[in-house]
Amino acid sequence: MKKTIAMYLSRMHSIEDDLGAALVLTALFLVVLLGFSALVIDVGLLYINRLALVNAVDAAALAGVQDLPYSPTMAMEKAKEYAAANGANGDEVKVVVRNGDHEVQVTASRDVKLYLARVFGITEQRLTASAAAQVGSISGCFGVAPFGVVEQDFILGEQYILKCGPHRPPGYLRGNFGALALGDQGASNYENNIKYGHNEKLEVGDWVDTEPGNMSGPTVRGVRHRIEQCQHEPKCTYDSVKNDCSRLVIVPVIRNLDKAHGRDSVQVVGFAAFFLEGTLREGDGGDSKHDDDKGESSVLGRFIRRVLPGEVGNVPDFGLKGYKLVE
Ligand SMILES: [Zn+2]
Repeated sequence: MKKTIAMYLSRMHSIEDDLGAALVLTALFLVVLLGFSALVIDVGLLYINRLALVNAVDAAALAGVQDLPYSPTMAMEKAKEYAAANGANGDEVKVVVRNGDHEVQVTASRDVKLYLARVFGITEQRLTASAAAQVGSISGCFGVAPFGVVEQDFILGEQYILKCGPHRPPGYLRGNFGALALGDQGASNYENNIKYGHNEKLEVGDWVDTEPGNMSGPTVRGVRHRIEQCQHEPKCTYDSVKNDCSRLVIVPVIRNLDKAHGRDSVQVVGFAAFFLEGTLREGDGGDSKHDDDKGESSVLGRFIRRVLPGEVGNVPDFGLKGYKLVE
């Protein structure tokens, strides 16, 4: 009997011990759980804030670079404005224009309040993100128009003939009007390339074929289509043409284009941008349906300088620049 009571008592103790141990374990578990939760919150906070900063400096650098190299002050203002509008409002933002006004660097810093790290006496963490974007001559691009212009120093605002009509300037040889066969040969491919731009990438150094013939009808139809595609209100003019406007045409600059004879192979040495003004009436044929030497078949463009997204390289500068993030 004695033995039974002793056994009972000892079992009671053992249950109490178990209960105590379980409570201690639960408490420990809760501490660990809370600790992990706090850690997750801290890591999450740092991660989200880092993303926000990176996003802000990228947007700011890409906005600022578009005013380089011509207006560095404007570039810095725009970078700050875009940083604030893209999540870095209230952060410390530093903008530097460097590399001879060809690069803008944006750095943003903020202090993030922490939870778990307080245990170790750290209440906040300073985060910094930086991005730089560079402007340079465009070395390759999509969507170029099938007109070639002779390599030269273009004058801002001056009118140029992008494709000749029957009255070619002196020096242009017979059968060559400055049109290019991009991707394929023939008048209908040429017309589509005027309307929509060549759908493959053309690069500085590439050799392309000229497209011989005046092609009055395709030229007039292509240019008219392109001008009508300007959806901006008010309609774009030389002074106001938007970067995404159909009247902004990118044209390959060609070495010795004026020496080309008939269908000839010529080399692209750069790219230039023009505001597409229209076709010039040279004869009395009007909108001719035949590829003859009559009709309004000269194409006129006014030279502009632009900075567009595109491939940048160490190539000659014809006023058309591209930009990219470099860090
Ligand atoms: Zn437009």
